[in-house]
Amino acid sequence: MSPAYKRILLKVSGEALAGDKSFGIETDFLQAIAKQVAQLAQQGMQVAIVVGGGNIFRGMAGAADGTDRVTADLMGMLGTIINALALSNAISRQGAKSKVYSAVTMPAVAENFTAREAKQALDDGYVVVCGGGTGNPFFTTDTAAALKAIELECDVMLKGTKVDGVYTADPMTDPSAERYDTVSYEEVISRDLRVMDTAAFALARDNGLPIIVYALDDKAGVVGVLNGDTRSTRVGP
Ligand code: UDP
Repeated sequence: MSPAYKRILLKVSGEALAGDKSFGIETDFLQAIAKQVAQLAQQGMQVAIVVGGGNIFRGMAGAADGTDRVTADLMGMLGTIINALALSNAISRQGAKSKVYSAVTMPAVAENFTAREAKQALDDGYVVVCGGGTGNPFFTTDTAAALKAIELECDVMLKGTKVDGVYTADPMTDPSAERYDTVSYEEVISRDLRVMDTAAFALARDNGLPIIVYALDDKAGVVGVLNGDTRSTRVGP
């Protein structure tokens, strides 16, 4: 395992949790990721996770159907809490300690997120699973992931996507596209490579947070990425 990283932030999108389904949580994928995370925790790595909610509800889609955007985004944030509860429970079932923190006050369901308490929990060996995004409408869980990675002083943020890294062009449409092993923030911006949404990327760049992009469907997942066995791209200073 990479000794360079003591504390990591993993972004798990709702789409990933849905696996092959278009809605809800796919048990096999949930268990696979929980197993990888528990393995990292058992090896002494501190792991914080931010979960998305696109498998349950997206605010933009709700707003397009007529719900006001703020209400629709609250519905989206609640979806991320459902995923956080499922993932944290699956991690516990793999034998690692795990706690859910929510950016939206919900005392019966999860602890309120504060960086101070979440960092203490990480130091105490808990996998910290963050739901509720940033707690504000008009943001995404990618932005929440970058924000929490910085707040929690994580060494790196890992983001699973449909492809195994960042390419010079979209590899789905351009066969000449080549994958970077490493790429600078400046190159991502100047070539408009869209690693994450603009707010998330700006936060990462302004605070020097490295981002590792890898393929979600890789069997070895984050463990493979951290071992250097899985193809990925590191975006950094
Ligand atoms: N959301 C929000 N504020 C945040 C994070 C998320 O309002 O800080 C809402 C938004 O409606 C979004 C939904 O939660 O569409 C699900 O999050 P996201 O789309 O980022 O999930 P993912 O694409 O990672 O599954």
